[in-house]
Amino acid sequence: MDAARVTKRSFWLHEALEHEEGWEVAARPLEIEGNCDIAIVGGGFTGLWTALELKRRDSSLDVVVLDASVCGSGASGTNAGYLMNLWPKYNSLVATFGTDDALAVARQSSAVASEIVALIEDHNLDVGLRAHGWLSVSTNSAQDSAWGSLLEQLEGVPGFPFRALGAADASQLAGTDVRAGVFDPTCAVLQPARLARYLRQLALQAGVRIFENTPMTRISTRGGLSVDTPRGVVNAGAVVVAINAWAIRFRQVRRHMVITASDTVVTRPMAWSDSPLASGLGVSDQGRLLNYWRTTTDGRLLFGKGGLGVGWATRGAHDMFSDAINEGLVLARMRSILPRLSQPAEFRWRAPVEYSANSLPFFVAWERHPRVFIGAGYSGDGVGPSKLGAKILASLALGVDDQWSTHPLTSTPKLTLPPEPFRFLGGQAVLRALIRQDSDQASDRSTGAFTKSLARLDPTAWIE
Ligand SMILES: Cc1cc2nc3c(=O)[nH]c(=O)nc-3n(C[C@H](O)[C@H](O)[C@H](O)COP(=O)(O)OP(=O)(O)OC[C@H]3O[C@@H](n4cnc5c(N)ncnc54)[C@H](O)[C@@H]3O)c2cc1C
Repeated sequence: MDAARVTKRSFWLHEALEHEEGWEVAARPLEIEGNCDIAIVGGGFTGLWTALELKRRDSSLDVVVLDASVCGSGASGTNAGYLMNLWPKYNSLVATFGTDDALAVARQSSAVASEIVALIEDHNLDVGLRAHGWLSVSTNSAQDSAWGSLLEQLEGVPGFPFRALGAADASQLAGTDVRAGVFDPTCAVLQPARLARYLRQLALQAGVRIFENTPMTRISTRGGLSVDTPRGVVNAGAVVVAINAWAIRFRQVRRHMVITASDTVVTRPMAWSDSPLASGLGVSDQGRLLNYWRTTTDGRLLFGKGGLGVGWATRGAHDMFSDAINEGLVLARMRSILPRLSQPAEFRWRAPVEYSANSLPFFVAWERHPRVFIGAGYSGDGVGPSKLGAKILASLALGVDDQWSTHPLTSTPKLTLPPEPFRFLGGQAVLRALIRQDSDQASDRSTGAFTKSLARLDPTAWIE
């Protein structure tokens, strides 16, 4: 994947790099054989937060980050920029770890989101941070019950940030007529590519060595651990693999993760009256193929739709960086959900979203070497949780025995997904059923039993 391919599409990356003079020259590749204490492969949020965490714990550590393209050119520079916690995945946390650990992990995810806000404010980072919360709305009758049991279970539990809103309050916030909503005032929106680029800068200032345009071609385990790249080699005491969707190339990950895609459009700037949306609220609906919308600081509307596309085998991550293939569907949903705000798109892109079988991220040792650690599986909620992942990956790489190295998220999901070609073919059939069901629900039509049963096979869901 080359940066030009992504930059020309993602509004965020385009905008971030436009304001960063000399980024192409600074993106120097590794061209020697050298040593380091810890090599991190992948310069997105996970890799960069991990580098910073390692340096925070021990500034004398020699940490190297390698990125195949430029830092922030993966999901970290192409996402919707909602800074969130893991509370929406509470049911999955309970099913996987039990209630006590589920509560602990959800609370930690809120804590790291606050740490990110504090870091942005302390360093005065110009990342368009607007902390006005996240509103999850119901736009049709099929969505009315999406949050039901979660709210009942967690009402009054310390740290649970959500509250239910009726139709009038939710519609006023959402900027359109909706049936009901659930509001988390602790969430924020930001310009994600700028955050990734600032993290790169902070990591450089902390003494991390960063090599861009440097794809890992192999991890060599004979006679010591090293990361091979086309023009150089890094020998390391430990390796952190933070390549997100690209981690599907590891068999151990492939069993538990599927690559889907989100299509996003961004309009031209428009005039806004005094609206909560304009001030920086993040909104999404509760459909299985999630629709989400927010504004940018220069008054554009971003509208995206998740769950479109299924990746083929190990090529999923690469193939999914493209034009927004389902732009027509995204614009149709924008028109129907936000009829007063709908505009033609100026930017549009598709990017891969890696879903784990339990919709939770995992941070595990590679089955072929105990000093190589892989983190992936954020399932569309990684802007905040990647900082939690960084604490876990840092402890694993340092070989310390603490609350992070023994964290519940240090195991792969139990559910194993079918191998190719069954996964891709089955995934296509399920995707078609989901799109049909989504259209039926958007126009309050009932969906046929066969389509419904196929759609139920979908292992991905946002609110779990
Ligand atoms: C369209 C979309 C919308 C999303 N919206 C949100 C949201 O609003 N809120 C939220 O919390 N999450 C969201 N997510 C998820 C979130 O963006 C990710 O979970 C998060 O960015 C993952 O960060 P990462 O560093 O693990 O991965 P990435 O940012 O993907 O970084 C991986 C890096 O690895 C590099 N790489 C790949 N292969 C190699 C190799 N062989 N050698 C060296 N480097 C390599 C890539 O170039 C890339 O820079 C969204 C994702 C997408 C795609």
